[in-house]
Amino acid sequence: MPQVSHGNTDLHWCNGCDVPLIRGGACPSCGSEPLRIKHTPPGDIRPGFPHDIDEVEHLADRQWGPGAGRALGIHGSPVLLNPCPAPDRLDEVIAGGHVICSVSFSQKELSTMLLLRRDGGARLNGSGFTPEKGYVVCDPTAVPFIMDGMNLLSPGITDCSDGILPGDEVLVIDDDGRVIASGLSRKHSRDMVGTRGMGVKIRWSALPEENSTGNPQEQPEREWKETWDHVVDVNRPHLHSLVKRAVSFIRDAVKRYGPKAAVSYSGGKDSLATLLLTRDAGFELPVMFVDTGIEFPETVEHVRAIAGEMELDLIVGRPRNDFFELVKVFGPPGRDYRWCCKSCKLGPTVSLIREHFPDGVLTFIGQRRYESNTRERKGAVWKNPWVPQQTGASPVQDWTALDVWLYIFLKGARYNPLYERGFQRIGCWLCPSCDLAERELLNLTKVDQEPWSRILEEERKMRDLPEEWIEKGFHRFKKLPPHMVRLAGEMGMERELLDTGRISKGRKGSFMFVDGYGSCADGLSQEGVLNPGMERKRFISLLNIIGPVTNIEGTEGVEVRPEGWSMKRAAVESYSDGTIVIRGSSEDEIKNVRRKLESVIKRTEGCIGCGICVGRCSSDALHIDESGKVMISEEKCIHCGMCLGPCPAESFVRDPYTV
Ligand code: SF4
Ligand code: SF4
Repeated sequence: MPQVSHGNTDLHWCNGCDVPLIRGGACPSCGSEPLRIKHTPPGDIRPGFPHDIDEVEHLADRQWGPGAGRALGIHGSPVLLNPCPAPDRLDEVIAGGHVICSVSFSQKELSTMLLLRRDGGARLNGSGFTPEKGYVVCDPTAVPFIMDGMNLLSPGITDCSDGILPGDEVLVIDDDGRVIASGLSRKHSRDMVGTRGMGVKIRWSALPEENSTGNPQEQPEREWKETWDHVVDVNRPHLHSLVKRAVSFIRDAVKRYGPKAAVSYSGGKDSLATLLLTRDAGFELPVMFVDTGIEFPETVEHVRAIAGEMELDLIVGRPRNDFFELVKVFGPPGRDYRWCCKSCKLGPTVSLIREHFPDGVLTFIGQRRYESNTRERKGAVWKNPWVPQQTGASPVQDWTALDVWLYIFLKGARYNPLYERGFQRIGCWLCPSCDLAERELLNLTKVDQEPWSRILEEERKMRDLPEEWIEKGFHRFKKLPPHMVRLAGEMGMERELLDTGRISKGRKGSFMFVDGYGSCADGLSQEGVLNPGMERKRFISLLNIIGPVTNIEGTEGVEVRPEGWSMKRAAVESYSDGTIVIRGSSEDEIKNVRRKLESVIKRTEGCIGCGICVGRCSSDALHIDESGKVMISEEKCIHCGMCLGPCPAESFVRDPYTV
């Protein structure tokens, strides 16, 4: 989960009813004062589905022996998962109003483990559980030291289970088998006893007399649905006030920005809540769904099912080019190289809106401020400069994930089944933003992973990269972020992995400029040469973005003079042999012209006809021609430059060489 820095959610727990309470104050059901949950901010907490609960129990059994999972006492009561900022999956598990453990995925080991917390230890003690593995026994003389916050040294360890490896999460138990601490093992089992040095790096410690709940297994178990129906019931007043505000937001937005309105539906929970809210507000709006071609089959099926059930007017947009064809040109997308969002999502959205709502449309989109800092900054109503015909509005902007889920449960609506298989976010299944932990979950879906695995493997071999480039998820970055640099270091593979992410595919783009500037009559100039194979007609057409294009007398060349150009010679001169000259009265002016010129060249060479720029032109001067690439109608273009902006071609055509 990314680092999100906008506040914290205030979540409580009623111990009388054993349910989370979103609003503070006395429990509306039993009247008792709830407990405030101490969790890691921001707290975009979601319900734990049966799959999640089974996973926690399974991990506990695997780490500490059979019965450990059941001893945590999470079966049959509400469990919450709180995603924490971390390089990969890190979910706090909340039960009974306390964080009892965290589920943590290690990118290095490619495995998931439970990190026990003090309240989890209390539950194990309360149930009388004694671990069979993953434990060390603490000498009574060492107990006061670890209670004082010190780590457990080997001389203070009298025994341990077999099979412990450095880096394992281990329980520290006393002579009676009760859990008094947990932490990270620093040694193999064989070196744990009778040696020197640190045995366990302690995370928390507590005396068993002070750390034991009753026996949680004695509480009556309820079915998962029944449990959550109860949570909804207790939180009903909060939900009603949320819905009331959202409904009035929707009605106001339609009054101000309508009358044409639609819902953007991705198949995820936030857009489902948004769709349901528009219907609560009394509207039956058309629904737009962009099928990127790399959606989960379950998502596409779910969208169709919802459309059928609600008798929706469903408008489906698709990219002009298949992702698996484009990836051969662009290379694998990265978190910092998201050409696919532009070509497979933004482009089809622009085309869909231009086709169905040429005069503009208010679109209700399920975006929430808790998802990212960018989304928080956007506010509840926004204009996307790249989809000018669209005004976006989110009635769930201030909702948490738990608000969204409780509302969906309240409505009894059908939701995407992938949430019940451990997925937290539903988007393109191979999105580089996905945690590595989610890769295993793909096996529980209908996704055919073979083409993607093949492409990554071909890429790896072509670039002579180690297998870890795929296995440990390095392929998800162009420039490695600090945590991946660290991981490469820990694996001793800096040399093999550090620079490889930065290699640009650069499959096209062969233009170069001379380094430095020369003087000319009234300013400076810079010379360059274009790929002789470049499609000259398209290049000249796109030069209009910079300014009016005219012929250079007596040659087959053309020149460009932007609006208000004061120099005698033009800003750009381009000749049929590929040579090109840029002029300006200062270095900054040359740089500015060159930046635009490079955009024009990259678009000429790499346009994939996604249509993003077409939607940006208010003069209707751009169109995709019969070869599927962009062209300008010179008579309509007013040379405003507004179409320069996000463009997949610019993401992958190589920057010019300088010689
Ligand atoms: S130039 Fe081509 S690839 Fe770039 S935004 Fe326009 S249509 Fe898309
Ligand atoms: S936005 Fe339209 S009018 Fe403006 S430069 Fe681009 S093509 Fe020309």
